[in-house]
Amino acid sequence: MKVQAVVDDLVRRFPHEPEYIQAVSEVLESIEEVYNRHPEFDKAGLVERLCIPDRIFTFRVTWVDDKGKVNVNMGYRIQHSNAIGPYKGGIRFHASVNPSILKFLAFEQTFKNALTTLPMGGGKGGTDFSPRGKSSAEVMRFCQAFVLELWKHIGPDTDVPAGDIGVGGREIGYMFGMYKKLAKEFTGTFTGKGLEFGGSLIRPEATGYGNIYFLLEMLKLRGIDIKGKKCLVSGSGNVAQYTCEKLIELGAIPVTLSDSDGYIYDPDGITREKLDYVMELKNVERGRIHEYAEKYGCKYVAGGRVWAEIGDIALPSATQNELNGDAAKHLVSTGCIAVSEGANMPSTPEAIEVFQKAKILYAPGKAANAGGVATSGLEMTQNSIRLSWSHDEVDDKLKQIMTDIHAQCVKYGTEPDGYINYVKGANIAGFMKVAKAIMAQGTV
Ligand code: NDP
Repeated sequence: MKVQAVVDDLVRRFPHEPEYIQAVSEVLESIEEVYNRHPEFDKAGLVERLCIPDRIFTFRVTWVDDKGKVNVNMGYRIQHSNAIGPYKGGIRFHASVNPSILKFLAFEQTFKNALTTLPMGGGKGGTDFSPRGKSSAEVMRFCQAFVLELWKHIGPDTDVPAGDIGVGGREIGYMFGMYKKLAKEFTGTFTGKGLEFGGSLIRPEATGYGNIYFLLEMLKLRGIDIKGKKCLVSGSGNVAQYTCEKLIELGAIPVTLSDSDGYIYDPDGITREKLDYVMELKNVERGRIHEYAEKYGCKYVAGGRVWAEIGDIALPSATQNELNGDAAKHLVSTGCIAVSEGANMPSTPEAIEVFQKAKILYAPGKAANAGGVATSGLEMTQNSIRLSWSHDEVDDKLKQIMTDIHAQCVKYGTEPDGYINYVKGANIAGFMKVAKAIMAQGTV
């Protein structure tokens, strides 16, 4: 396999899909050497097969707003690979959603899910509907209209969606309710459900907590204590909130949060009490992060990114390509020692190069944020056996999974000088598992 030739071919066929090409290039570059040690992979067209999703569903979603006007949005579900288990991956509600973004997310999800050690394939879905400024009744009608098309393609052993940007407990509840009505069954077809109807304890916390558990493993190898470390966190949604919660619990000091309008910098640190306010603001009132700055009298930068500040640890938890090469240079030159990604592909290729050249700790989302889907996998298991595990049982399993993912990265990503290339480690470990499963199942 020659990476450039494969990428050139994808660019020719999908010229308007930059995020997808970016994600594929990163994985292929890091697995090239290992892949080429297996001529049987090339003969079986493994890379070509993995670069094209198993199937893509595209549909129109028609819904009525509070004024009685009919609105039309696009809906998508990408079923990327079910080589190691049912398709599994979140649903994104955001105005920027398009096939390129969903194909990159589904591709990444396949390898991430393989890393979790649980039997889950990879998928992703979404829509360009933006929940921002919509009433709960509008969100409910949209979710119902979305599922009216989607439900035919999903099921507990087929494809199990979850949340992502713009999709939290409220949206999963509405989608599950409609699915249940149409399918006439009560199964674990969605994860991230409410605790009263099959959800798992720790699922809301899992991505943020898991990222910090992964970070702790990285810091441990260098003998660094997280206590007292100033942390730059981006985003203010699900992942950012529970990242802050775990940081506060461990004595670290989160000092930033953001949304798509700007960021806040609180030099005194975001305390438990302030985080409670953020949770209320974002999850209940659905307000904007500048309101935090007004309430606590700290700095707010409209249109800015948190990476302009100085911190010991960076935890990107908002969206793809939010941290570029210049931001990475600033972080490294001002003493940042670790970057651990809660979001998917938040660092651009230029930023990753800067982190790795400086040999700081750098964990890609595929490894560091896998705790979310891993706990979704645990929710699926609990639904199947019709039992629910305690808070501590799920948290312990999550910790163990993050420790195991870290160990896989160390195994496949340690370089001759001892530096751990977590990108390489995660990509090789995830890829080899999927590759072996595909080879064993023949040409299908
Ligand atoms: P939420 O919708 O709960 O929060 C997203 C946050 O990011 C919001 O603060 C949002 O601001 C901000 N944001 C979204 N898009 C942009 C943008 N284009 N520019 C700037 N800010 C933006 O989503 P999650 O917290 O669930 O997801 C955050 C990231 O984590 C995503 O990359 C997601 O794929 C990833 N992830 C999530 C998992 C989960 O379990 N939820 C699992 C694994 C990864 P605003 O309110 O203004 O839109």
